[in-house]
Amino acid sequence: MSESATSGVREMTVASAFAGMRSVSPVVFRAGCPDCRGRFELTASDLRLAIGATSRTTFYSFTCPECGASVRKPAGERIVELLTGGGVSTLRLHSAL
Ligand SMILES: [Zn+2]
Repeated sequence: MSESATSGVREMTVASAFAGMRSVSPVVFRAGCPDCRGRFELTASDLRLAIGATSRTTFYSFTCPECGASVRKPAGERIVELLTGGGVSTLRLHSAL
């Protein structure tokens, strides 16, 4: 009954297979806080993008990891492309009809 020990080897193989799939590097966005003037890097999950009808109502927001302030900044076309391409969750505000 000592041969049952081999069952654990397959689990190791599955774990290493998943580890090999992590080839996609996460996108990092550089941001600054106007409150504490801290500079830091944020990942897509830290950012929120709100797209309004005009560029004035299009902005991105995040919470400063250093002082906890909620920062909101206007997002131009380039930034919108960058953020949506990086996997940032996008909120579409009411579009004008
Ligand atoms: Zn701050």
